[in-house]
Amino acid sequence: MLVRVAAPDRYDATITARSDLTEALAFFRVRPDDAPRAFVAGQYLTVGRLVQGRLVQRAYSVASSARRLDEAYELYIRLVPGGALTPELFRAGAGDRVSLRGPKGRFTLRAEDAERPHLFVATGCGIAPFMSMLRTLRDDGIRRRIVLLHGVSYARELAYRTDLERWSAEPESRLVYVPTVSRPADPRNAGWTGGTGRVERVLAPVCDRHRIDADEAVAYVCGNPEMTASVRELLRARGFAAERVHAEDYWPLRRVVPGP
Ligand SMILES: Cc1cc2nc3c(=O)[nH]c(=O)nc-3n(C[C@H](O)[C@H](O)[C@H](O)COP(=O)(O)OP(=O)(O)OC[C@H]3O[C@@H](n4cnc5c(N)ncnc54)[C@H](O)[C@@H]3O)c2cc1C
Repeated sequence: MLVRVAAPDRYDATITARSDLTEALAFFRVRPDDAPRAFVAGQYLTVGRLVQGRLVQRAYSVASSARRLDEAYELYIRLVPGGALTPELFRAGAGDRVSLRGPKGRFTLRAEDAERPHLFVATGCGIAPFMSMLRTLRDDGIRRRIVLLHGVSYARELAYRTDLERWSAEPESRLVYVPTVSRPADPRNAGWTGGTGRVERVLAPVCDRHRIDADEAVAYVCGNPEMTASVRELLRARGFAAERVHAEDYWPLRRVVPGP
């Protein structure tokens, strides 16, 4: 009997560059040994590395433009202390090897929504797929009306802020960039004069101010699962149809198990 063995979809790659934003946040550039695979902005790669002889694999959204495959994939990663993979990844740097699968995923822009205003809501590294979308749209010369709300604990965690501020200040820009820090009283945020509060709290005023209306807009939400669940609920309460709210959870929502 002929037994068909599925072709392995895992392939080898090299970290070509790493740059650190903080001690727990870093950008990695990863180049496959073979030609990089085409992807749709918003998709993720599964990155693998041997940890004590065992291959550990985790998903990471591609942050770079889908039109710039020659520049290697950019990933934006948070170190999770005690995590299975990220402590090992944060010991790695340019020249180190990883395995990849994908890119894949369905957290992508829909062609049929091209004329709708877009609301992007991210916490932390959840900005990564939105950077890929924005960069790809720019490379394609397309300007969708987009309001990007990015929540972080500390202002120095506002990755890509310089680019986003520049793009939103361009004369013909249709991008509104709304950064917000959730711990304004923390000394690490001293000097921050921008928006404050968790994204869940500032969502309603941002939608009102920037005319993100439920009957015409489409929303994409990415990051920590408590936030995506709350934002989905808030958007549904504002009248958004379920099919116009797309969400990507970066880890599973912790279920609260009732005590005995
Ligand atoms: C589709 C998809 C795309 C993703 N893209 C990114 C990305 O672009 N950048 C990125 O940094 N991560 C991303 N993640 C999360 C990533 O896959 C890992 O879960 C994360 O890096 C932790 O891996 P770990 O092995 O170090 O920790 P694990 O051992 O897997 O995690 C331990 C626990 O830490 C918690 N946890 C996981 N991630 C975080 C976090 N970021 N902050 C706080 N607590 C966390 C969870 O409760 C988890 O159970 C994505 C996840 C998915 C599903």
